[in-house]
Amino acid sequence: MKIILLGPPGAGKGTQADILRKKLNIGKIATGDMLREAVASGTPLGKQVQDIMAKGHLVPDKTMIDVLFGRIHKADCALGFVLDGFPRTLAQAEALDRALAFEDAAIDRVIELKVDDEKLMKRIVGRYACAKCGAGYHDSFKRPMQAGVCDACGSKEFIRREDDKAQTVAKRLETYHMQTEPLLPYYRVQGKLLSVDGMAEIEEVARQIDEVMGMGKKNAKNS
Ligand code: ADP
Ligand code: ADP
Ligand code: ZN
Repeated sequence: MKIILLGPPGAGKGTQADILRKKLNIGKIATGDMLREAVASGTPLGKQVQDIMAKGHLVPDKTMIDVLFGRIHKADCALGFVLDGFPRTLAQAEALDRALAFEDAAIDRVIELKVDDEKLMKRIVGRYACAKCGAGYHDSFKRPMQAGVCDACGSKEFIRREDDKAQTVAKRLETYHMQTEPLLPYYRVQGKLLSVDGMAEIEEVARQIDEVMGMGKKNAKNS
């Protein structure tokens, strides 16, 4: 199963990608996380993308396509993958389709998380993650079970993203509308686009995704 999650910053792509990864035993590919790791470890890629990310702009397509193609054949993607943050431009979507077609494969489903721009700011400025394992949390909407301790790994260190500040978020939203939104009609004409209400609670969004993908309890098949 090869799934793309589409939606603006803060829509809940990472959160739902984690849920799908566990449920379907597929790889989660979050290009933003990969780039932040490259920046943190000071690799040539990290040096190339650092300023671009800080400004809320997009990293060039060629770079991103290389990053993605280096990842989709890793062992954890043997049963498929869920993409969080890729593709973000038509050129990226077309490159992905071409590469998969070359291997007689294709994207199965594209899930749009429909959200309300105005409410996204609260989502994003409240976002933080475990410094050790990357598990995602939110000041109001997803607190760890025990305050200050990561549910997943027990670490007590957390981090907030540099680009989750109000001014950068506005720029990232604009970038989304200009460059990424055209992917909705691109996948709609392919008959792959499914939409869910991204403003619902996390568990409800997950339930709607199961429903539109036909993974409900009644017809639980992993086609
Ligand atoms: P994205 O990957 O699309 O940028 P995230 O999954 O990181 O979005 O979610 C942004 C923030 O909002 C995180 O702090 C996350 O815990 C929280 N969040 C995700 N989905 C929901 C939801 N349905 N309702 C409320 N908060 C959510
Ligand atoms: P969010 O979860 O808030 O949507 P991401 O973590 O996916 O943000 O991405 C953070 C930043 O990394 C983006 O603002 C952009 O600069 C860069 N980036 C990530 N994925 C891509 C991509 N596919 N194409 C271009 N830039 C990307
Ligand atoms: Zn953790």
